Amino acid sequence: VVQLLLVEDDPEIRRALIRSLGERGHAVTGVGTGAEALSLMLRNPPDLVVLDLGLPDMSGYEVLRMLRAVSAVPVVVATALDDEQEIIRVLDVGADDYVVKPFGPGHLEARIRAVLRRTVGGEGEAPGSPVVLGGLRIDPARREARLDDGLLNLSPREFDLLHYLATRADQLVSKRDLLTHVWRLPYGGADKTVDVHLSWLRRKLGETAQEPRYLHTVRGAGVRLAAPS
Ligand code: CA
Repeated sequence: VVQLLLVEDDPEIRRALIRSLGERGHAVTGVGTGAEALSLMLRNPPDLVVLDLGLPDMSGYEVLRMLRAVSAVPVVVATALDDEQEIIRVLDVGADDYVVKPFGPGHLEARIRAVLRRTVGGEGEAPGSPVVLGGLRIDPARREARLDDGLLNLSPREFDLLHYLATRADQLVSKRDLLTHVWRLPYGGADKTVDVHLSWLRRKLGETAQEPRYLHTVRGAGVRLAAPS
């Protein structure tokens, strides 16, 4: 049985989701505020959190940020707005997936299962062993990356980006591919987001686009991570 924490302030939606997710075999605890969610998270960590972004005491975004400081629990965000910027913002601070309201319970259930498969390693993809590329060492189990033994201070999304590229070292990876697999936005259309994150990552690796060491941009085609020759 999967222990779900449902954070939703609308009592009707909360009741309906507790019932429908319960019928699908999950153990669901529902709370209506960010503060309750955070305190419950610490006392009784769930297997997955479904988090409404519009909460009365703090934004779901803030809840997620605080949560990510202490926990890697999978989070599916529920947003009322079909707003790409907001979705990117929450994916950037570490949401695993999202659903846009109004959504049916079957749709939410499918997202929950997909996230659990990815994060709990149900598809045989355990966190995996560290990837070493030149002076880079990327440890997915600890979600830590080091360059020449110095710890890199990466956001969750930057870490995922670096790890994804490192597991495809020397291959050209398209932005579309990154949007699909790192951002989980298969419909794409946000190349700028990828560009911005690549430039942040590049800066943290201590290099520039003009003089790349690890991160090579191929104009119009994509990006390639490779050990310096
Ligand atoms: Ca709400």
